[in-house]
Order: sequence, then C-alpha cells, then structure tokens
Amino acid sequence: MALRIYNTLTRRKEEFVPREPGRVDIYQCGVTPYDYTHIGHARQYVFWDTVRRYLKYRGWKVFCVQNVTDVDDKIIAKAGMQGVEPEEISEEYHRDFLDVMDMLGVERPDVMPKVTQHIPEIIELISGLIEKGYAYQADGDVFFDVTSFPDYGKLSGRSLDDMMAGARIEVNPKKRNTMDFALWKSAKPGEPSWDSPWGPGRPGWHIECSALALKYLGSGFDMHGGGDELIFPHHENEIAQSEAYTGEKPFARYFIHHAMLNIDDVKMSKSLGNFFSVRDVLKEFEPGVIRYFFASRHYRSPANYGVDELEAAGTAYSRLVSTLDAGRRALDKADKMESVQEKEEKGSGLTLKADAEEAERRFIEGMDDDFNTAVGIAALHDLARSINDFLHATGGMIHYNKEDLQGLSKAVSTLSTLGGILGLFQESGAIADRGLTEGLISLLIDVRNDLRSKKEWAFADKIRDSLKGMGIILEDTSTGTIWKRIG
Ligand SMILES: [Zn+2]
Repeated sequence: MALRIYNTLTRRKEEFVPREPGRVDIYQCGVTPYDYTHIGHARQYVFWDTVRRYLKYRGWKVFCVQNVTDVDDKIIAKAGMQGVEPEEISEEYHRDFLDVMDMLGVERPDVMPKVTQHIPEIIELISGLIEKGYAYQADGDVFFDVTSFPDYGKLSGRSLDDMMAGARIEVNPKKRNTMDFALWKSAKPGEPSWDSPWGPGRPGWHIECSALALKYLGSGFDMHGGGDELIFPHHENEIAQSEAYTGEKPFARYFIHHAMLNIDDVKMSKSLGNFFSVRDVLKEFEPGVIRYFFASRHYRSPANYGVDELEAAGTAYSRLVSTLDAGRRALDKADKMESVQEKEEKGSGLTLKADAEEAERRFIEGMDDDFNTAVGIAALHDLARSINDFLHATGGMIHYNKEDLQGLSKAVSTLSTLGGILGLFQESGAIADRGLTEGLISLLIDVRNDLRSKKEWAFADKIRDSLKGMGIILEDTSTGTIWKRIG
C-alpha cells in the first residue's frame, strides 16, 4: 500500500506522489528563539523527526530545511528589557533549542538557515513581487496586495470577502486592503535593520519562509509542515508570495499540520503560567518516555500534556524497554552457549518470526495511513507480548533450537528497529544508566555464586534479599542464575 497523507490543501487523505521519484523534500517552519523551547514545540519536531526516520526506513532519500527566525519583535523586546543585543537573545535560545532536540534524539535538519543571513534573497523576492504587481511600497514599508492573487484563501478555505468582513486587524492607513500583510517593515529607532531599495528596515515574518524554501528546495517541493495555528495567515501568505513570485503552483505539494498540545486541558501560554520547558520536563522524564507519549497520539489530534499522561506513558514504555532488554540478554546467553552446545533441541513451537513479520506489516500499514504512530505503538506492544510469552515458555534459557533462535533474533531486532523509527530506545543518559544497572546486577550475581560455592550462605542470601528489596528477583536454574524486575 502506498503512503497516504492528509493534505490541508485538499482537506483529505491523498496518496503521496513526490516531485521526484525516491526523494522527499521537506520544509518546516522553525522556531523564533526568544525563550526556552517548550513541550509544545517538542511535539512538532519529534513528529517530523519520526516522519523523516520512517521515510528513510522505507527507502526514500529525505532532505529537510527548517528556518530560524532570528529577527522578530519578541526577540527585540526581550533584548531591550535585558539591555543586550537581539543577537545574544536569539543565539542563547537557539542553543537551548538545539540542546534539547539533541537530548530528545531529534535528528538535525539538513539545513537550518537563519533569516539574518538571507536578507539579500528576501530583498530579491520582494523586489520581484513589486515588479510583477503583487506588492507595493508605502512610506518605507512594503505590503503584499491580497486582491492581486486570486488564489488567496485556498489553504484556509476562506474567501477574501469573508476575511475582509471579519477582519479585526487595526486600520493601517498605509495599506490598500485590510488583509494586506507586510513584506518589509521600515526601521524603528534602536532596532536591527538592513539597507534595501525601500530604505532601512527588516523583513516581515511570512516572507522569510518563501525565500528560504524557494532557495533551498525550489518551487513544488513535497511536504510543508507546521502547527495548525499557522494555516492562516502564515502558510496562506507563504503560498501567495511564492506562487505569485514564481508563477508556478503549487508552492508545496502537501501541507501537513499537527494539532496543538494543551497543558492540563487548557491551551499553553506564558500568561497562564502553564509553560513547560523541554529542559525541565527532561529532568523528570527520560527522552524515550516523552517520545512514547507523543507517538501514542495521532499528530492531528489535540493532545493533553500533564504529569499523569507522562507517567502513564512511562509505565507503558518501560514494558517495551524491559522486554527488549530481556530478549537481548537471552540472545547473548544463547550466543555464548552455541559454541559449546551444537546439538539440535526440540523447538518451542512458538511462531515468533511470523509474529515479528506481522508486527512490521501492521506498523507500516499504520504509518502509511497518515503517519498513524498510535497503530505503530500497538504493534510494538503485541510483538513485546509475543517475546515475553516466548521467554516464559522457554524459561529465558538457552536450549533453543535453531528456529527458535532465529525467531527471537528477528523479533528483538524488529522491536528495536520499529521502536527506533519512533525515536524509542535511543542511547541516552538514562539508557546508559540502564546498561550500568545491568552490569552491576551481573557482578552481584557472580559474587553471590562465588560466595555460594564457598558455602557462605548468609552473605549470598544477603545479596539476594537486598536485590529483592530493590525490586530485582534472582532465579537459580539448572543452567545458571537469571534476574527479573518485579512487576
Ligand atoms: Zn513558515
């Protein structure tokens, strides 16, 4: 089955047909760095990281551009309050963005162009729009004339007349129509500005995305992403600017919008004080838990962030992690035994290999249906259940026959690969800690076995009882000691 995506341009799910076979070019609206990256931002970038990983897994070549709005009213205002240059503010918070995205295992885009480094491209685009009659200058400002572009409103599904009637935009005597929007803003005292044919000033917000997308991807690229609050006016304006300038449509073939993240069932906002920085959330929850939380909800459904939701995600995620760990340990043990024990054993009769293939098929089917990561998560849990059943049936032990071994190996690698597409099971501080935990438990098991062989029963039992107090159970079997977590 082919990949199908909900396209805001057509308001339905469509089969994905790329501009160029085998290749997917993506543009997503990036951050305006004037404060710490919050958990709402994380939803967008984690989702697009998953999309990119999935497309690569399916054999596509992927190229991704994500802008940095490093000049903006909010940056300038904050710099003014702190008595520093706007650049210092944007650099500080862009660094925070990169740090926390790294912690979440979000792969960096191929290009992250900064607006301030692309002023000539923006000026060229605005000049072209004026020449072609789509824009006009007024007293140092330049505006896009929405009445000159007949398709205005096609993304948001609104007619210009309706917009004009409902407009609550303050009256600006420089504008010809209320819905016209700024491409260039004349310089105000003390603000960063650049020379232009219309006098010193800086770009309006919308024009940067057209200039950067056209420069790095060209007209008609494949996927354009951003939050659904950007549909109007930001993406509507991007389309108008770009298609008017190039004379080609579409500017982007598929507009993909994710829903907002609410906090404890209300919209997140600084004024409500319900603002959670990713940095703070990462102090409480490991990256895999946050990624699991996002992946278990479809990107177009509004999601609610709260401690309860994250804790529930943590519990469910730890089931996958402990199954993966247990499966890997069993394989390690089997590897060590294989060299000394060649004889064929009776098989378990379980169909782990087929279960792994079924999980993969369902995962792909879900992801191909408008990136339904929740279906993918369900497939992972079913596969984890099969692995656990297998480990129970075989006692987590080593007398597998070849078929069982291959089944376990396939199931463990499938769980790891599919989870990896959702950004789960990534190496991180927390996962490294888990490796340390495993090493320490193995060491204690060895020490206890030594004590037992010396008949130091009291010391040996102390190790076993103390571990039990920490939620770790040791089981002595005919072929060695294994351990499990309680619950
Ligand atoms: Zn944009």
